[in-house]
Amino acid sequence: MALLPIRIFGDPVLRERARQVTDFDDQLRQLAESMLETMRAAEGLGLAGNQVGVLKRLFTWELPDEERHGALVNPEVVETSEDVQHGDEGCLSFPGLFFPTERPLRVRMAARDVFGDELTLEGEGTLARIMLHELDHLNGILFIDHLARHDRKEAMRRINAGELEEEAAARPAYVGHPA
Ligand code: ZN
Repeated sequence: MALLPIRIFGDPVLRERARQVTDFDDQLRQLAESMLETMRAAEGLGLAGNQVGVLKRLFTWELPDEERHGALVNPEVVETSEDVQHGDEGCLSFPGLFFPTERPLRVRMAARDVFGDELTLEGEGTLARIMLHELDHLNGILFIDHLARHDRKEAMRRINAGELEEEAAARPAYVGHPA
């Protein structure tokens, strides 16, 4: 296992669509383990393949308070609630940036686990927010795309001022990764 460098906004891989996983092999399981480890080192709650430069449809997630975590491969939305939630959202590819982002309150996804077995995951509140945020990544969509116009403007202003690079340089999880 190894920590993987996290791609920061501006890296074109974050705007690409990840491809379906077809091989459920040791390499995939190692990747999922490394992503989980990387996500924890960076104190994130979710991490998608694109964010470590791997265009495979998988993401990891964790709810530390509930001691639950997992990896979803080839996830698809089965159902989302009409009820929505409001709250600040951030992203490991936008270190230091948090903005109010509206999301459905609940989501159910169908996916595979790292062995290729079918699984269903239901999320409510924070978990639903994580799942939808990470699935977006696999489609090249970023949380800033969901922001209200004035927040998006403010986000771009801070990004253009170099805040992401500054923030990343100040965090051990973003620098000095072992190869
Ligand atoms: Zn993200």
